[in-house]
Amino acid sequence: MAHLQRRPVSDCQSALAGKRRLRQKGRVSEEIIDEPAEQPAEVPVTFADLGLSEAVLAGVTKAGYERPTGIQAQAIPVILEGRDVIGSSQTGSGKTAAFALPVLSMLGAPGKLRVLILEPVRELAAQVEEQFLKYGGEAGIRSLLIHGGVGYGKQREGLERGVDVLIATPGRLLDLMQQRAIDLRDLEVLILDEVDRMLDMGFLPDVRRIVQKCPEKRQTLLFSATIPSEIASLASFALKDPFKIEVGRPRGAATTVSHYFYPVNRLQREELFLALLKETEFKSVMVFTRTKSDADLLAARVKSQGEFKVALMHGDIAQKDRAKALGGFRSGEFDVIIATDVAARGLDVTGVSHVINYSVPENPEDYVHRIGRTGRAEKEGDAFTILSADELPAAEAVERFIGQKVERRRLPNFDYEYTTLLDDSRAAQNSLRESLSRGRLRVGKKRR
Ligand code: AMP
Repeated sequence: MAHLQRRPVSDCQSALAGKRRLRQKGRVSEEIIDEPAEQPAEVPVTFADLGLSEAVLAGVTKAGYERPTGIQAQAIPVILEGRDVIGSSQTGSGKTAAFALPVLSMLGAPGKLRVLILEPVRELAAQVEEQFLKYGGEAGIRSLLIHGGVGYGKQREGLERGVDVLIATPGRLLDLMQQRAIDLRDLEVLILDEVDRMLDMGFLPDVRRIVQKCPEKRQTLLFSATIPSEIASLASFALKDPFKIEVGRPRGAATTVSHYFYPVNRLQREELFLALLKETEFKSVMVFTRTKSDADLLAARVKSQGEFKVALMHGDIAQKDRAKALGGFRSGEFDVIIATDVAARGLDVTGVSHVINYSVPENPEDYVHRIGRTGRAEKEGDAFTILSADELPAAEAVERFIGQKVERRRLPNFDYEYTTLLDDSRAAQNSLRESLSRGRLRVGKKRR
Protein backbone atom coordinates (compact mmCIF):
# COMPACT_ATOMS: atom_id res chain seq x y z
CA MET A 1 0.00 0.00 0.00
CA ALA A 2 1.26 3.46 -0.83
CA HIS A 3 1.46 5.51 2.35
CA LEU A 4 1.62 9.27 2.48
CA GLN A 5 5.14 10.64 2.27
CA ARG A 6 5.83 13.34 4.85
CA ARG A 7 8.75 15.72 4.51
CA PRO A 8 11.08 17.09 7.20
CA VAL A 9 10.61 20.76 8.11
CA SER A 10 14.12 21.74 7.04
CA ASP A 11 13.29 21.00 3.37
CA CYS A 12 10.57 23.58 3.52
CA GLN A 13 12.47 26.46 5.02
CA SER A 14 13.54 28.23 1.85
CA ALA A 15 9.91 28.56 0.92
CA LEU A 16 9.02 30.19 4.22
CA ALA A 17 11.90 32.61 3.87
CA GLY A 18 10.78 33.56 0.36
CA LYS A 19 7.28 34.18 1.54
CA ARG A 20 8.55 36.71 4.03
CA ARG A 21 10.33 38.54 1.22
CA LEU A 22 7.13 38.82 -0.79
CA ARG A 23 5.43 40.23 2.23
CA GLN A 24 8.03 42.93 2.69
CA LYS A 25 7.42 44.05 -0.89
CA GLY A 26 3.76 44.39 -0.01
CA ARG A 27 2.69 42.05 -2.79
CA VAL A 28 1.05 39.62 -0.39
CA SER A 29 -1.13 40.98 2.39
CA GLU A 30 -0.92 38.41 5.08
CA GLU A 31 -0.61 37.97 8.75
CA ILE A 32 0.85 34.84 10.24
CA ILE A 33 -0.37 33.82 13.64
CA ASP A 34 2.38 31.24 14.17
CA GLU A 35 5.40 33.05 12.75
CA PRO A 36 7.85 30.46 11.40
CA ALA A 37 11.48 30.42 12.52
CA GLU A 38 13.72 33.20 11.15
CA GLN A 39 15.33 32.38 7.81
CA PRO A 40 17.51 34.31 5.38
CA ALA A 41 15.08 36.49 3.47
CA GLU A 42 16.47 36.31 -0.04
CA VAL A 43 15.01 33.22 -1.66
CA PRO A 44 11.98 33.86 -3.87
CA VAL A 45 9.06 31.46 -3.53
CA THR A 46 8.41 29.24 -6.48
CA PHE A 47 6.36 26.06 -6.53
CA ALA A 48 9.64 24.17 -6.90
CA ASP A 49 10.79 25.53 -3.50
CA LEU A 50 7.83 24.12 -1.66
CA GLY A 51 8.79 20.44 -1.63
CA LEU A 52 6.05 19.15 -3.92
CA SER A 53 6.50 15.91 -5.88
CA GLU A 54 7.64 16.01 -9.51
CA ALA A 55 4.27 14.72 -10.73
CA VAL A 56 2.39 17.45 -8.87
CA LEU A 57 4.83 20.11 -10.07
CA ALA A 58 4.09 18.95 -13.61
CA GLY A 59 0.37 19.39 -12.86
CA VAL A 60 0.99 22.93 -11.57
CA THR A 61 2.95 23.83 -14.70
CA LYS A 62 0.17 22.42 -16.84
CA ALA A 63 -2.35 24.52 -14.90
CA GLY A 64 -0.27 27.57 -15.86
CA TYR A 65 0.35 28.87 -12.33
CA GLU A 66 3.46 31.03 -12.15
CA ARG A 67 3.92 31.37 -8.41
CA PRO A 68 2.20 30.20 -5.25
CA THR A 69 -0.41 32.46 -3.68
CA GLY A 70 0.05 33.58 -0.05
CA ILE A 71 -1.88 30.70 1.47
CA GLN A 72 -0.12 28.17 -0.75
CA ALA A 73 3.34 29.43 0.17
CA GLN A 74 2.46 29.14 3.84
CA ALA A 75 0.35 26.02 3.98
CA ILE A 76 2.09 23.64 1.57
CA PRO A 77 5.35 23.18 3.54
CA VAL A 78 3.50 22.77 6.83
CA ILE A 79 1.08 20.22 5.39
CA LEU A 80 3.94 18.28 3.82
CA GLU A 81 5.54 18.19 7.24
CA GLY A 82 2.46 16.34 8.49
CA ARG A 83 1.07 18.97 10.85
CA ASP A 84 -2.56 19.78 11.46
CA VAL A 85 -3.49 23.19 10.05
CA ILE A 86 -6.22 25.76 10.63
CA GLY A 87 -6.35 28.08 7.63
CA SER A 88 -8.41 31.15 7.01
CA SER A 89 -8.02 33.16 3.85
CA GLN A 90 -9.76 35.49 1.49
CA THR A 91 -12.13 33.93 -0.96
CA GLY A 92 -10.49 33.01 -4.26
CA SER A 93 -7.05 32.89 -2.67
CA GLY A 94 -6.07 29.51 -4.10
CA LYS A 95 -7.00 27.63 -0.92
CA THR A 96 -8.01 24.43 -2.71
CA ALA A 97 -4.61 24.00 -4.32
CA ALA A 98 -3.04 24.90 -0.94
CA PHE A 99 -4.30 21.58 0.38
CA ALA A 100 -4.69 19.57 -2.84
CA LEU A 101 -1.08 19.95 -3.98
CA PRO A 102 0.66 18.72 -0.81
CA VAL A 103 -1.89 15.97 -0.26
CA LEU A 104 -1.41 14.69 -3.81
CA SER A 105 2.37 14.86 -3.36
CA MET A 106 2.08 12.72 -0.24
CA LEU A 107 -0.32 10.26 -1.86
CA GLY A 108 2.14 9.31 -4.56
CA ALA A 109 0.56 6.28 -6.25
CA PRO A 110 -3.00 4.91 -6.11
CA GLY A 111 -3.76 2.79 -3.01
CA LYS A 112 -6.50 2.67 -0.38
CA LEU A 113 -8.90 5.40 0.66
CA ARG A 114 -6.51 7.75 2.45
CA VAL A 115 -8.00 11.24 2.09
CA LEU A 116 -11.47 12.48 3.02
CA ILE A 117 -12.58 16.04 2.24
CA LEU A 118 -15.85 17.39 3.63
CA GLU A 119 -17.59 20.19 1.74
CA PRO A 120 -20.87 21.92 2.62
CA VAL A 121 -22.49 21.75 -0.84
CA ARG A 122 -22.18 19.60 -3.91
CA GLU A 123 -21.04 22.40 -6.20
CA LEU A 124 -18.03 23.05 -3.99
CA ALA A 125 -17.32 19.34 -3.72
CA ALA A 126 -17.38 19.10 -7.53
CA GLN A 127 -14.99 22.01 -7.80
CA VAL A 128 -12.53 20.44 -5.39
CA GLU A 129 -12.68 17.20 -7.34
CA GLU A 130 -11.92 19.08 -10.55
CA GLN A 131 -8.79 20.53 -8.99
CA PHE A 132 -7.69 17.10 -7.73
CA LEU A 133 -8.08 15.74 -11.27
CA LYS A 134 -6.21 18.70 -12.70
CA TYR A 135 -3.16 18.29 -10.47
CA GLY A 136 -3.29 14.55 -9.77
CA GLY A 137 -4.42 13.17 -13.11
CA GLU A 138 -0.90 12.22 -14.19
CA ALA A 139 -0.31 10.08 -11.12
CA GLY A 140 -3.59 8.21 -11.67
CA ILE A 141 -5.01 9.25 -8.29
CA ARG A 142 -8.67 8.22 -8.12
CA SER A 143 -11.15 10.59 -6.54
CA LEU A 144 -14.87 10.17 -5.95
CA LEU A 145 -17.64 12.63 -5.28
CA ILE A 146 -20.29 11.74 -2.72
CA HIS A 147 -23.29 14.04 -2.33
CA GLY A 148 -27.04 13.99 -1.93
CA GLY A 149 -29.69 14.81 -4.52
CA VAL A 150 -28.69 11.96 -6.84
CA GLY A 151 -29.01 8.15 -6.72
CA TYR A 152 -26.73 5.93 -4.64
CA GLY A 153 -25.84 3.49 -7.46
CA LYS A 154 -22.92 5.25 -9.11
CA GLN A 155 -21.45 6.35 -5.79
CA ARG A 156 -21.57 2.77 -4.48
CA GLU A 157 -19.99 1.45 -7.69
CA GLY A 158 -17.21 4.04 -7.41
CA LEU A 159 -16.53 3.00 -3.81
CA GLU A 160 -16.40 -0.66 -4.81
CA ARG A 161 -13.90 0.08 -7.59
CA GLY A 162 -11.62 1.78 -5.04
CA VAL A 163 -10.65 5.41 -4.47
CA ASP A 164 -7.78 7.35 -2.96
CA VAL A 165 -9.62 10.60 -2.27
CA LEU A 166 -13.25 10.99 -1.25
CA ILE A 167 -14.86 14.41 -1.52
CA ALA A 168 -18.20 14.43 0.25
CA THR A 169 -21.03 16.43 1.73
CA PRO A 170 -21.77 15.28 5.30
CA GLY A 171 -25.35 13.93 4.99
CA ARG A 172 -24.80 11.45 2.15
CA LEU A 173 -21.44 10.41 3.56
CA LEU A 174 -23.07 9.48 6.87
CA ASP A 175 -25.80 7.55 5.01
CA LEU A 176 -23.21 5.51 3.16
CA MET A 177 -21.17 5.02 6.32
CA GLN A 178 -24.25 3.69 8.09
CA GLN A 179 -24.79 1.31 5.18
CA ARG A 180 -21.17 0.18 5.67
CA ALA A 181 -20.34 1.15 2.12
CA ILE A 182 -17.34 3.23 3.22
CA ASP A 183 -14.28 2.01 5.03
CA LEU A 184 -12.29 4.80 6.68
CA ARG A 185 -9.78 2.47 8.37
CA ASP A 186 -6.84 3.55 6.25
CA LEU A 187 -7.67 7.24 6.27
CA GLU A 188 -4.61 9.43 6.79
CA VAL A 189 -5.79 12.96 6.02
CA LEU A 190 -9.13 14.54 6.91
CA ILE A 191 -9.91 17.95 5.41
CA LEU A 192 -12.78 20.04 6.77
CA ASP A 193 -13.33 22.74 4.18
CA GLU A 194 -15.56 25.85 4.27
CA VAL A 195 -16.43 25.08 7.87
CA ASP A 196 -18.11 28.44 8.48
CA ARG A 197 -20.57 27.53 5.75
CA MET A 198 -21.12 24.10 7.33
CA LEU A 199 -21.87 25.89 10.58
CA ASP A 200 -24.43 28.15 8.83
CA MET A 201 -26.10 25.12 7.32
CA GLY A 202 -26.33 23.28 10.64
CA PHE A 203 -23.88 20.53 9.61
CA LEU A 204 -21.47 20.71 12.55
CA PRO A 205 -23.10 17.82 14.50
CA ASP A 206 -22.77 15.61 11.38
CA VAL A 207 -19.17 16.73 10.95
CA ARG A 208 -18.40 15.75 14.55
CA ARG A 209 -19.98 12.35 13.98
CA ILE A 210 -17.81 11.80 10.93
CA VAL A 211 -14.65 12.97 12.74
CA GLN A 212 -15.36 10.42 15.49
CA LYS A 213 -15.38 7.62 12.91
CA CYS A 214 -11.99 8.57 11.49
CA PRO A 215 -8.83 6.88 12.77
CA GLU A 216 -7.31 8.73 15.69
CA LYS A 217 -3.91 8.79 14.03
CA ARG A 218 -4.44 11.15 11.11
CA GLN A 219 -3.61 14.61 9.85
CA THR A 220 -6.49 17.09 9.98
CA LEU A 221 -6.78 20.35 8.05
CA LEU A 222 -9.54 22.84 8.74
CA PHE A 223 -10.37 25.79 6.50
CA SER A 224 -12.86 28.48 7.42
CA ALA A 225 -13.16 32.16 6.50
CA THR A 226 -14.00 32.99 10.11
CA ILE A 227 -13.47 31.05 13.33
CA PRO A 228 -16.40 31.76 15.69
CA SER A 229 -16.54 29.88 19.00
CA GLU A 230 -18.44 26.85 17.60
CA ILE A 231 -15.70 26.31 15.04
CA ALA A 232 -12.92 26.89 17.57
CA SER A 233 -14.54 24.16 19.67
CA LEU A 234 -14.75 21.77 16.68
CA ALA A 235 -11.10 22.55 15.95
CA SER A 236 -9.96 21.68 19.46
CA PHE A 237 -11.95 18.45 19.24
CA ALA A 238 -10.68 17.44 15.78
CA LEU A 239 -7.15 18.88 15.51
CA LYS A 240 -3.92 18.37 17.41
CA ASP A 241 -1.52 21.25 17.96
CA PRO A 242 -2.59 22.97 14.74
CA PHE A 243 -0.47 25.46 12.85
CA LYS A 244 -2.59 28.54 12.27
CA ILE A 245 -2.46 30.44 9.01
CA GLU A 246 -4.40 33.60 8.31
CA VAL A 247 -4.01 35.26 4.93
CA GLY A 248 -5.40 38.72 4.26
CA ARG A 249 -8.11 40.28 6.36
CA PRO A 250 -10.60 37.44 6.78
CA ARG A 251 -13.53 39.86 6.86
CA GLY A 252 -12.20 42.06 4.10
CA ALA A 253 -13.36 42.39 0.55
CA ALA A 254 -10.87 40.82 -1.87
CA THR A 255 -8.30 43.49 -2.68
CA THR A 256 -8.50 42.71 -6.39
CA VAL A 257 -12.15 43.80 -6.61
CA SER A 258 -13.26 47.42 -7.15
CA HIS A 259 -16.73 47.68 -5.69
CA TYR A 260 -19.36 50.42 -5.73
CA PHE A 261 -22.87 51.10 -4.53
CA TYR A 262 -25.40 52.42 -7.07
CA PRO A 263 -28.14 54.25 -5.15
CA VAL A 264 -31.53 54.31 -6.83
CA ASN A 265 -35.21 54.83 -6.15
CA ARG A 266 -36.60 51.42 -5.22
CA LEU A 267 -39.08 51.55 -8.09
CA GLN A 268 -36.24 51.87 -10.60
CA ARG A 269 -34.16 48.98 -9.36
CA GLU A 270 -34.88 46.75 -12.33
CA GLU A 271 -34.46 49.58 -14.82
CA LEU A 272 -31.07 50.50 -13.36
CA PHE A 273 -30.01 46.86 -13.35
CA LEU A 274 -30.81 46.46 -17.05
CA ALA A 275 -29.04 49.76 -17.81
CA LEU A 276 -25.95 48.69 -15.86
CA LEU A 277 -25.84 45.45 -17.77
CA LYS A 278 -26.18 47.26 -21.08
CA GLU A 279 -23.63 49.98 -20.32
CA THR A 280 -20.94 47.79 -18.82
CA GLU A 281 -18.25 46.22 -20.92
CA PHE A 282 -18.05 42.82 -19.34
CA LYS A 283 -16.67 39.43 -20.14
CA SER A 284 -19.06 37.56 -17.91
CA VAL A 285 -21.35 38.70 -15.11
CA MET A 286 -22.66 36.97 -12.00
CA VAL A 287 -25.83 38.58 -10.69
CA PHE A 288 -27.03 37.91 -7.16
CA THR A 289 -30.56 38.36 -5.89
CA ARG A 290 -31.95 37.94 -2.40
CA THR A 291 -34.88 35.78 -3.50
CA LYS A 292 -35.56 33.03 -5.99
CA SER A 293 -38.49 34.97 -7.41
CA ASP A 294 -36.25 37.99 -8.11
CA ALA A 295 -33.79 35.67 -9.83
CA ASP A 296 -36.58 34.15 -11.99
CA LEU A 297 -37.94 37.57 -12.84
CA LEU A 298 -34.59 39.08 -13.81
CA ALA A 299 -33.62 36.06 -15.89
CA ALA A 300 -36.90 36.38 -17.80
CA ARG A 301 -36.32 40.13 -18.36
CA VAL A 302 -32.74 39.72 -19.57
CA LYS A 303 -33.79 36.85 -21.84
CA SER A 304 -36.65 38.84 -23.29
CA GLN A 305 -34.25 41.62 -24.29
CA GLY A 306 -32.41 39.08 -26.40
CA GLU A 307 -29.02 40.73 -26.00
CA PHE A 308 -27.34 38.32 -23.60
CA LYS A 309 -27.41 34.59 -23.00
CA VAL A 310 -28.50 34.05 -19.43
CA ALA A 311 -28.39 31.11 -17.01
CA LEU A 312 -30.30 30.75 -13.75
CA MET A 313 -29.20 29.09 -10.54
CA HIS A 314 -31.07 28.78 -7.26
CA GLY A 315 -32.32 26.23 -4.76
CA ASP A 316 -35.49 25.33 -6.68
CA ILE A 317 -33.58 24.46 -9.83
CA ALA A 318 -32.88 20.74 -10.21
CA GLN A 319 -29.30 19.66 -9.57
CA LYS A 320 -28.69 18.63 -13.18
CA ASP A 321 -29.94 22.00 -14.45
CA ARG A 322 -27.78 23.83 -11.92
CA ALA A 323 -24.77 21.87 -13.14
CA LYS A 324 -25.72 22.74 -16.74
CA ALA A 325 -26.10 26.42 -15.87
CA LEU A 326 -22.73 26.55 -14.13
CA GLY A 327 -21.01 24.49 -16.83
CA GLY A 328 -22.46 26.71 -19.56
CA PHE A 329 -21.42 29.85 -17.71
CA ARG A 330 -17.91 28.49 -17.23
CA SER A 331 -17.56 27.54 -20.88
CA GLY A 332 -18.81 30.93 -22.09
CA GLU A 333 -22.08 29.63 -23.51
CA PHE A 334 -23.87 32.05 -21.13
CA ASP A 335 -22.72 35.65 -20.60
CA VAL A 336 -24.76 36.20 -17.47
CA ILE A 337 -25.67 33.93 -14.57
CA ILE A 338 -28.36 35.00 -12.13
CA ALA A 339 -28.19 33.30 -8.77
CA THR A 340 -29.24 33.41 -5.15
CA ASP A 341 -26.63 32.93 -2.43
CA VAL A 342 -26.64 29.20 -3.11
CA ALA A 343 -24.04 30.02 -5.77
CA ALA A 344 -22.23 32.78 -3.94
CA ARG A 345 -19.79 31.05 -1.69
CA GLY A 346 -16.65 29.45 -2.86
CA LEU A 347 -17.86 28.70 -6.37
CA ASP A 348 -14.92 29.18 -8.60
CA VAL A 349 -15.38 30.44 -12.10
CA THR A 350 -12.30 32.01 -13.56
CA GLY A 351 -12.64 35.15 -15.62
CA VAL A 352 -15.83 36.53 -14.06
CA SER A 353 -15.25 40.19 -14.85
CA HIS A 354 -18.26 41.64 -13.00
CA VAL A 355 -20.60 40.90 -10.14
CA ILE A 356 -23.89 42.75 -9.78
CA ASN A 357 -25.85 42.58 -6.55
CA TYR A 358 -29.45 43.25 -7.44
CA SER A 359 -29.93 44.27 -3.84
CA VAL A 360 -27.70 44.59 -0.78
CA PRO A 361 -27.34 41.19 0.88
CA GLU A 362 -28.92 40.94 4.33
CA ASN A 363 -25.88 39.25 5.79
CA PRO A 364 -22.71 41.38 5.41
CA GLU A 365 -20.57 38.27 5.10
CA ASP A 366 -22.53 37.31 1.97
CA TYR A 367 -21.42 40.60 0.44
CA VAL A 368 -17.79 39.54 0.75
CA HIS A 369 -18.55 36.11 -0.69
CA ARG A 370 -20.61 37.49 -3.54
CA ILE A 371 -18.14 40.11 -4.70
CA GLY A 372 -15.39 37.53 -4.25
CA ARG A 373 -16.76 35.68 -7.29
CA THR A 374 -14.79 38.17 -9.35
CA GLY A 375 -11.18 39.26 -8.83
CA ARG A 376 -10.18 35.63 -8.27
CA ALA A 377 -6.64 34.30 -8.29
CA GLU A 378 -5.25 37.82 -8.19
CA LYS A 379 -7.05 38.95 -11.36
CA GLU A 380 -9.04 42.22 -11.22
CA GLY A 381 -12.80 42.55 -11.15
CA ASP A 382 -15.66 44.99 -10.55
CA ALA A 383 -18.69 44.58 -8.34
CA PHE A 384 -21.78 46.81 -8.41
CA THR A 385 -24.46 46.78 -5.75
CA ILE A 386 -27.81 48.41 -6.34
CA LEU A 387 -28.90 50.20 -3.21
CA SER A 388 -32.31 51.60 -2.38
CA ALA A 389 -33.11 53.67 0.69
CA ASP A 390 -34.73 50.82 2.62
CA GLU A 391 -31.43 48.91 2.30
CA LEU A 392 -29.30 51.64 3.81
CA PRO A 393 -28.99 49.86 7.20
CA ALA A 394 -27.83 46.69 5.38
CA ALA A 395 -25.36 48.76 3.32
CA GLU A 396 -23.97 50.36 6.47
CA ALA A 397 -23.68 46.93 8.08
CA VAL A 398 -21.60 45.82 5.09
CA GLU A 399 -19.35 48.87 5.46
CA ARG A 400 -18.86 48.19 9.17
CA PHE A 401 -18.12 44.53 8.45
CA ILE A 402 -15.48 45.17 5.80
CA GLY A 403 -14.15 48.20 7.64
CA GLN A 404 -14.40 50.56 4.68
CA LYS A 405 -16.82 53.02 3.11
CA VAL A 406 -18.03 51.88 -0.30
CA GLU A 407 -17.98 54.57 -2.99
CA ARG A 408 -21.42 55.65 -4.30
CA ARG A 409 -21.65 55.95 -8.07
CA ARG A 410 -24.28 57.07 -10.54
CA LEU A 411 -24.76 55.70 -14.00
CA PRO A 412 -24.29 58.55 -16.50
CA ASN A 413 -27.32 59.27 -18.71
CA PHE A 414 -29.70 57.24 -16.55
CA ASP A 415 -32.97 59.03 -15.95
CA TYR A 416 -32.98 58.88 -12.15
CA GLU A 417 -36.19 59.48 -10.20
CA TYR A 418 -35.81 61.28 -6.92
CA THR A 419 -34.90 59.40 -3.78
CA THR A 420 -33.43 60.90 -0.64
CA LEU A 421 -30.49 58.53 -1.18
CA LEU A 422 -29.48 60.58 -4.22
CA ASP A 423 -29.92 63.84 -2.39
CA ASP A 424 -26.57 64.74 -0.86
CA SER A 425 -27.94 67.56 1.29
CA ARG A 426 -27.60 67.10 5.02
CA ALA A 427 -31.33 67.77 5.52
CA ALA A 428 -32.25 64.96 3.11
CA GLN A 429 -29.87 62.51 4.77
CA ASN A 430 -31.21 63.38 8.24
CA SER A 431 -34.78 62.92 7.07
CA LEU A 432 -33.84 59.57 5.52
CA ARG A 433 -32.31 58.35 8.74
CA GLU A 434 -35.35 59.52 10.66
CA SER A 435 -37.74 57.74 8.26
CA LEU A 436 -35.71 54.56 8.46
CA SER A 437 -35.68 54.63 12.23
CA ARG A 438 -39.47 55.07 12.17
CA GLY A 439 -39.79 52.36 9.55
CA ARG A 440 -41.29 54.75 6.97
CA LEU A 441 -39.92 55.72 3.60
CA ARG A 442 -40.82 58.37 1.08
CA VAL A 443 -40.86 57.23 -2.52
CA GLY A 444 -40.87 60.48 -4.49
CA LYS A 445 -41.46 61.31 -8.11
CA LYS A 446 -39.17 64.34 -8.44
CA ARG A 447 -36.78 63.89 -11.42
CA ARG A 448 -33.08 64.58 -11.08
P1 AMP B 1 -9.76 28.75 -4.74
O1 AMP B 1 -9.47 29.88 -3.79
O2 AMP B 1 -9.16 27.47 -4.32
O3 AMP B 1 -11.23 28.65 -5.05
O4 AMP B 1 -9.01 29.10 -6.14
C1 AMP B 1 -9.34 30.19 -6.93
C2 AMP B 1 -8.76 30.06 -8.34
O5 AMP B 1 -7.35 30.29 -8.35
C3 AMP B 1 -8.91 28.68 -9.02
O6 AMP B 1 -9.40 28.91 -10.32
C4 AMP B 1 -7.53 28.11 -9.12
O7 AMP B 1 -7.39 27.30 -10.27
C5 AMP B 1 -6.69 29.37 -9.22
N1 AMP B 1 -5.33 29.23 -8.65
C6 AMP B 1 -4.97 28.50 -7.59
N2 AMP B 1 -3.66 28.66 -7.34
C7 AMP B 1 -3.18 29.52 -8.26
C8 AMP B 1 -1.88 30.10 -8.52
N3 AMP B 1 -0.84 29.81 -7.75
N4 AMP B 1 -1.78 30.95 -9.56
C9 AMP B 1 -2.85 31.26 -10.32
N5 AMP B 1 -4.09 30.75 -10.14
C10 AMP B 1 -4.26 29.89 -9.11
